[in-house]
Amino acid sequence: MKAIRRLHVRTALPETLSPLHDLALNLRWSWHPPTRDLFAGLDPELWESTGQDPVAILSSLRSEDMERLAADEDFVARVREVHEDLQRYLSTPRWYHEHGAGERDGRTLEAIAYFSPEFGITSVLPQYSGGLGILAGDHLKAASDQGIPIVGVGLFYKSGYFAQRFNADGWQQESYPVLDPDDLPLSLLREEDGAPVVIRLAMPHGGHLDAHVWRAQVGRVPLLLLDSDVESNDPSRREVTNRLYGGGGDQRLEQEMLLGIGGVRALRAHSRITGAPAPTVYHTNEGHAGFQGVERISELVTQHGLAFDEALQAVRAGTVFTTHTPVPAGIDRFAMEAIHAHFGGEGNGLPGVPVDRLLALGAEDYDGGDPSRFNMAVMGMRLGQRVNGVSKLHGAVSREMFQGLWPGFDVEEVPIGSVTNGVHAGTWVDRSLYDLARDHLGPEVSARSVFTRIHQVPIDAFWETKRELRQQLIEDARARFHQSLLDRGATAAELGWTQDILDPDVLTIGFARRGATYKRLTLMLRDPERLKKLLTDPERPVQVVIAGKSHPADDTGKALIQQMVRFTDDPEVRGRIIYLPNYDIAMAQRLYPGCDVWLNNPLRPFEACGTSGMKAALNGALNLSILDGWWDEWYDGQNGWAIPTADGVEDPERRDDLEASALYELLEKTVVPTFYDRDEQGLPQRWLEMVSHTLSTLGPKVLADRMVRDYTESLYWPAAHAAWAVEADGYAGARSLAAYVDKVKANWRHVRVDHVDAEGLADAPQIGDEIAVHAYVALGDLDPREVRVQMAYGRANAEDTITDPEYVDLQPTQSYEEGRHRFDGRLRLARTGALGWTVRVLPRHEHLSSDAELGLVTLP
Ligand SMILES: *Cc1c(COP(=O)(O)O)cnc(C)c1O
Repeated sequence: MKAIRRLHVRTALPETLSPLHDLALNLRWSWHPPTRDLFAGLDPELWESTGQDPVAILSSLRSEDMERLAADEDFVARVREVHEDLQRYLSTPRWYHEHGAGERDGRTLEAIAYFSPEFGITSVLPQYSGGLGILAGDHLKAASDQGIPIVGVGLFYKSGYFAQRFNADGWQQESYPVLDPDDLPLSLLREEDGAPVVIRLAMPHGGHLDAHVWRAQVGRVPLLLLDSDVESNDPSRREVTNRLYGGGGDQRLEQEMLLGIGGVRALRAHSRITGAPAPTVYHTNEGHAGFQGVERISELVTQHGLAFDEALQAVRAGTVFTTHTPVPAGIDRFAMEAIHAHFGGEGNGLPGVPVDRLLALGAEDYDGGDPSRFNMAVMGMRLGQRVNGVSKLHGAVSREMFQGLWPGFDVEEVPIGSVTNGVHAGTWVDRSLYDLARDHLGPEVSARSVFTRIHQVPIDAFWETKRELRQQLIEDARARFHQSLLDRGATAAELGWTQDILDPDVLTIGFARRGATYKRLTLMLRDPERLKKLLTDPERPVQVVIAGKSHPADDTGKALIQQMVRFTDDPEVRGRIIYLPNYDIAMAQRLYPGCDVWLNNPLRPFEACGTSGMKAALNGALNLSILDGWWDEWYDGQNGWAIPTADGVEDPERRDDLEASALYELLEKTVVPTFYDRDEQGLPQRWLEMVSHTLSTLGPKVLADRMVRDYTESLYWPAAHAAWAVEADGYAGARSLAAYVDKVKANWRHVRVDHVDAEGLADAPQIGDEIAVHAYVALGDLDPREVRVQMAYGRANAEDTITDPEYVDLQPTQSYEEGRHRFDGRLRLARTGALGWTVRVLPRHEHLSSDAELGLVTLP
């Protein structure tokens, strides 16, 4: 029978058990073992069958269960203890407070908004598709642990991403289970009178898009999720947030409008109702939330009387934009007409934001750009004074990729930095490794000190635990694999063999990630016979566990998955290499710890960072990876292996052949022999040395704690200081900067270096000599103090290019003619060899964050 209506009866807990409600709603349980134990203890079987879901456990309690539990003094005492621990966690000062909280002139940074289209916090709140979401979840958790006052902003997708299965042919099948927010660890944001908060956006033709706001609590960090499934919407608009990355065109655009514009409005409502401070800094995780900046411009124009350009400067100062992909197809773009239709008409659009100004923010008006496209990443860069990539290599690749936005500057000067991603140890390090560390290092050992003191844990104990972790993975994998074969049409009677697949003493390789083409899932199949040999070696076999979803619209990705699934069906190798459907956080938490080797073979340099290898490393696995993303930065020769890349080989087929063959060779000659090289106690000494080295040196670096501290110190605090500076005295700084930008842009065509000369330059200059430099510069109407005139010098190569420039500012000394000025400076020859120098003119204003910010420079 199908129900015609649903209603939700909330569990009414007796007084003594009421803290369970708080404990279930604060997602800290997802990384706090004692809280998990408490819920698991209520009904261990249900705990497993609900996918370890505290809310589901509570809703299943019957009145008699509650009476029994309320009368159980030990249980009540445990509830109280765990609840007190949560209260302590929420109130004890943390790193952020111990390090000044961004203090400047008596002000501290009290709130940072963090926008992301997806958040991967726990598998019971499936609001993520892959790395971007997992990263966002880890960012919130680590911010909570460090006391960094972040508020997350996202969307609530009723069907999340999708659930993956395979059909008999190995073709991906998607299904969209519907989530009921009442069954999730969420609460509805309500006005004081109890009515749900409604966020409303204007839509074309007098329409509107309404949303409710769900609030999740991630430790100390609130997360606001907008949900368009509201009765006041047209039926089609109720579906706007039905799926993550579902639909195209207008649905996607309306999702992003809701995330950005609606997100800012949700923050305002949240502050109004709860008294939470309004954010000073706005961080957008990838371009999808870019409209947040436009909404803030609109607020400043309508509520503070700023002109558009002044508001733009005020918004830029407090905005941080993180770009996440060097794959051009991964960048979010819309048709210009769609933006026009949504922001241009009567009554829709944003007050104070003329549609042509908005269109200009996302225009690809640079070499190679497409004039018909509105580019969300480009808008992110124009709305954020601070921009970063997610690993050193990705920072460099992004500087090259977006160089067109800062014409005239060397690629090194493009103002895009980097903060390398990290992972949240509390979520990703298997509990038995913590228990092991605690047994040997004492109960108070922290996530950081575990890794630096790991050599104090006896290596044989570690190796025993690792075997248990392989066993734990195998049990999980057998169950999933069995179910997968049933879904593909097998009958239980023919599947007995699946209960013996995989072996806890065999070298275990993991490979799991989204099915994006550049990740090259099938590289290991280049020479199937060679792979089979590795898998079936009678003495020293390997086993491989694979997982990953492909975007529903990506048939190329799905075809690669199918090719892999079919290979795993081959009777010669079946059970030695398996593809598990429906990669998610729960699977990942078993998979990383159970692996000895984490394999990653993307096409360099398309992996912006990659985080799964970090999670594996924290669980004592060694990485075997292409030198891309984070591995390019932190591979040190001892913590795993680098698969040599055939960079520069144009033919992709040949490149894949070369790289695949390098992969097989590493496995055959190095990885497998090292794993199976045992001493008299059966321990692989060399292997364990590498693991121990990995944990102690890589461990502390890959932590999300480190990442959020880096963001705070290098981006959030500077952005807050910049925002306060432009906002002071009725936005005087923003007004002055906007007026300056206007003036400098109008005058720049008159700026010229007329003449440069040097004094004291001997025929044969020697190190230590000093020369005086004079530059004669035309500036039009600009004042000499409104520009920076710089001498750049450094080693000159054969083409006379200065390869590693250093800069000295020249000072204005004389105005010798209307609009013409002399600038002087001195250069000490501190290096030997061929030296080149030149002079350049740059804009200068106290509120600019870098020389390149305006993309203006004049050279002789
Ligand atoms: C870590 C993780 C990812 C991202 O892995 P990458 O290495 O960044 O591709 C994707 N999905 C899940 C479930 C994860 O845990």
